[in-house]
Amino acid sequence: ADMTENASADALAQPASFKRRGLLFVLSSPSGAGKSTISRKLLADDAGLTMSVSATTRPMRPGEEDGRDYHFVDLEKFREMVSDNAFLEWAHVFDHRYGTPRAPVEGLLERGHDILFDIDWQGAQQLYQLAGGDVVRVFILPPSMAELEKRLRGRRTDSDDVIDRRMARAHSEIAHWDGYDYVLVNDDADACFAKVRTILHAERLKRSRQTGLIGFIRKLDTEEG
Ligand code: 5GP
Repeated sequence: ADMTENASADALAQPASFKRRGLLFVLSSPSGAGKSTISRKLLADDAGLTMSVSATTRPMRPGEEDGRDYHFVDLEKFREMVSDNAFLEWAHVFDHRYGTPRAPVEGLLERGHDILFDIDWQGAQQLYQLAGGDVVRVFILPPSMAELEKRLRGRRTDSDDVIDRRMARAHSEIAHWDGYDYVLVNDDADACFAKVRTILHAERLKRSRQTGLIGFIRKLDTEEG
């Protein structure tokens, strides 16, 4: 998101002396649980948040754009990136490979930017092993499996066979809900978005993240009352 765009983000922006390290904000859910709508809203709402664009070997879907939704690469290129250590994490999902490019993430974090990751439980686990306290993991559940299937069919982007496999995959994704810090049910898109935003805002204010506050507090301490 663009720094000048948004007033609510300006209110959150911290003076340079308060700079904190950015956080890695992971949103996972079975596909169809509404995660991409929530990510889109968060990014539009918040200038301090940037999306991590993954690389994948899966074919592009109608409406997707290379470089925006994913970096679409072939298997050979993906393997090359793996051997160049170009990924922070990568995993097999639905017969394809998905990975988080390392380079953009590290620079942004140092500059105090927060990064949004739309990755599965395997990716969440790997990021947590790498970056522990800088990682916030949020899991979004569908209101019911029937509703999830209805949403997947409603998208009309996948064949019956693919939908059946996505439903099977959803069960195994949901089985990993205990690897997350926060779990939400998406029964109302706006309400769920508001909750996710609240989590992001509260996590930014955690004392452990605001190491830059030490100097400020010391100064307050020595000021005359
Ligand atoms: P889709 O093919 O529907 O775009 O994504 C399928 C699944 O792959 C989603 O659950 C998504 O969160 C996950 N995914 C996308 N990018 C990455 C990534 O870079 N790493 C991992 N581990 N999972 C990813």
